[in-house]
Amino acid sequence: MNAVLLHSREIAPQVKHFVFEVPELERLDFMPGQFASLSADLGGRRITRAYSIASPPSGNCFELCLNRVADGIFSPYLFRLQPGDSVEMQPPLGFFTLRNPDHDMLMVATGTGVAPYRAMLMDYLGRGGKSQTTLLFGARYEPGLLYRVELEAFERRHATFHFWPTLSRPDSAWTGRIGHVQAHLDSALDGRTNLDVYVCGLKAMVDDIRARLKSRGLDRKQIIYEKYD
Ligand SMILES: Cc1cc2nc3c(=O)[nH]c(=O)nc-3n(C[C@H](O)[C@H](O)[C@H](O)COP(=O)(O)OP(=O)(O)OC[C@H]3O[C@@H](n4cnc5c(N)ncnc54)[C@H](O)[C@@H]3O)c2cc1C
Repeated sequence: MNAVLLHSREIAPQVKHFVFEVPELERLDFMPGQFASLSADLGGRRITRAYSIASPPSGNCFELCLNRVADGIFSPYLFRLQPGDSVEMQPPLGFFTLRNPDHDMLMVATGTGVAPYRAMLMDYLGRGGKSQTTLLFGARYEPGLLYRVELEAFERRHATFHFWPTLSRPDSAWTGRIGHVQAHLDSALDGRTNLDVYVCGLKAMVDDIRARLKSRGLDRKQIIYEKYD
């Protein structure tokens, strides 16, 4: 099936938010947190890449949050798409979805790894989910805190949701958390081992967080992760 780009906008340097529609469907069914695979013939080769859907199910539309990998193949192609252009897609797949919505949850992300959490949180908080949920979100600079306005609004509206941004290269005006997500893992856990921890982003961060969680006594079933590379 084909997805048609409705619009896109830059939300940070080299990061765009895309809204697509699948005209041949009335509803695109998926679980918040799943990804869509997009394909195109580029330079004589068939290229397919996975992208976490950044929005909860809504008719036949879906949203993506994409980083432009400077020397990449597919992401620069998607950045060049104009409204009305279409791209081939496969139906959403994946197991990076909320497992136990009644457990406390810690969600750890860097960069565009926040995309599936946006979908999960819009859905879960929108349905009145009440488990203690912390999003520990790392970026280098303040503009890289993608969807910050929305996430701060979630925090104001939902007493059980806690947004913990952290910057590894803050400027002098930043008064929030500093350092990588790893630096704040223990305070986010707060001694708890009876929670589910979700981790999403590039392999190095995901593997490091998983190792730390295991050494803090979490069982592998409590650690749900998605690696982007
Ligand atoms: C399940 C899954 C979900 C994904 N969801 C997203 C998403 O929501 N948003 C998104 O931007 N990417 C996402 N990715 C990564 C995406 O599939 C591509 O790998 C990425 O767009 C690079 O493709 P490319 O062809 O431009 O680069 P390639 O030519 O394939 O080059 C790959 C290089 O890009 C690096 N890379 C991969 N992803 C990223 C990234 N996000 N940021 C920085 N460097 C990266 C890799 O380490 C590698 O060095 C996801 C990957 C998987 C497996």
